[in-house]
Amino acid sequence: QRLCSAAQGDTIFAMSSGHGKCGVAVIRASGPGCRAAVQSLTGRPEPPPPRVLALRRIRDPATAEPLDRGLVAWFPGPRSFTGEDCCELHVHGGPAVVSGVLQALGRLPGLRPAEPGEFARRAFHNGKLDLTAVEGLGDLIQAETEAQRRQALRQMEGELGRLYQRWSETLTQALAHLEAYIDFSEDDSVEEEVLSQVAAAVQALEQEVGAHLRDGRRGELLRGGVRVVIAGPPNVGKSSLLNLLARRPAAIVSPVAGTTRDVVELSLNVGGYPVVLSDTAGLRATADPVEREGVSRARERLQHADLVLAVLDAGAVPAEPGGLGEALGAVLPPAAAAPPPCVLVLNKADLVQDGGGALQTACARGGLPPAALLSCKTGEGLAGLLELLRRQLERLCGDPLAGSPSLTQSRHGHHLRACRAALARYGPAAGADLALAAEQLRLARRHLGRITGHVGAEDILDIIFRDFCVGK
Ligand code: GDP
Ligand code: ZN
Repeated sequence: QRLCSAAQGDTIFAMSSGHGKCGVAVIRASGPGCRAAVQSLTGRPEPPPPRVLALRRIRDPATAEPLDRGLVAWFPGPRSFTGEDCCELHVHGGPAVVSGVLQALGRLPGLRPAEPGEFARRAFHNGKLDLTAVEGLGDLIQAETEAQRRQALRQMEGELGRLYQRWSETLTQALAHLEAYIDFSEDDSVEEEVLSQVAAAVQALEQEVGAHLRDGRRGELLRGGVRVVIAGPPNVGKSSLLNLLARRPAAIVSPVAGTTRDVVELSLNVGGYPVVLSDTAGLRATADPVEREGVSRARERLQHADLVLAVLDAGAVPAEPGGLGEALGAVLPPAAAAPPPCVLVLNKADLVQDGGGALQTACARGGLPPAALLSCKTGEGLAGLLELLRRQLERLCGDPLAGSPSLTQSRHGHHLRACRAALARYGPAAGADLALAAEQLRLARRHLGRITGHVGAEDILDIIFRDFCVGK
């Protein structure tokens, strides 16, 4: 709220590049004071030509002392990121240069440091980005894997927003026809047929929204990481598997936390897909209260898994489908309504007599999940397991560039479900109250507008911009 009221009139500035010593630092500013700021920092009567980089000596306006030689870009509004006058100073990344320039900017009248996300917020208020594009921009800055980057870029470029905008326009058109019918239904020139055309359009839209919602949370999985849980009986090599995966430097993004004593989590990048991998306590009945707590946390994890890596000891399971299925059944969540997809890991393959040939045959034969023979001890079979895992992730998350864009946030889903429900309530059967039916269409359109921010978004702006960094 504070930002909105202050948005007009003042000029904000911030360091937009990363912090710490670096070759080049980018400082940017937005607002009506930009032209004067460029003039006084470069000591020239005019800013450089719009949208080109110009090499300039940058000086402290108060003392005329040179601070650096760098590139200056001038973006007169409204053709700028925020829609206001903007400028960028590309200076050397040394801390003294950066703080010298920032202090010089801060002493100019009408300029102040930007709040986190304030540039993007101004772009939103000036109609440069809708809310889904703002969210895409935030995701792009956070993106750690290739698939995340693809999805975020698509959303930032407005694909998701345009989809919802198109739906909204469909509703506006349907409403116009319906209202015309209500106003002129006495008149023969407006025919009954109009009513059935509107009903057909509404029904088609309801189906399209439904299909969009039934995407298996693809976009959300990709955005937040797929929760992969390692589970199995004690001592089969679950922790060894986690360590093996973690030791592949190419696969690691960052350790999340060594959370509880029994659940260890880390973030991995598997073939471009983000994974949050957790290791759990071995599943078995036990009298030890501490272990029992570990087991119940493991079960809790399993309930929320998007994908399970079920580990069994290849030397301890029968090499036939029935027995394997039974051993697997003890690992997966009991009678879950929709069991999560699973990859079977037959570990300690180095201890199996025939190199696991009999097991492989059994896995191929019975209705078992895809399986990989592995030895955590020798590393043999790891490449095969990673490939299996990647294929499962691809199935779960889909190709972020294919088909229509995915919804990526739970708030999208919330409004879309409300939109669909309103469309389902639209039923201008003979004798129905047409005014009430029209109200449902308006309601549905309002929910779409809430997603893109075209309707009453003030209350969620703080939540959306909270995660942005200063300078964005
Ligand atoms: P967890 O209880 O399921 O987490 O199992 P651990 O990862 O702690 O491993 C249990 C024991 O099995 C340890 O002694 C490991 O060294 C051993 N182990 C794990 N993986 C393998 C393997 O592939 N081959 C062999 N021979 N031993 C393994
Ligand atoms: Zn363990």
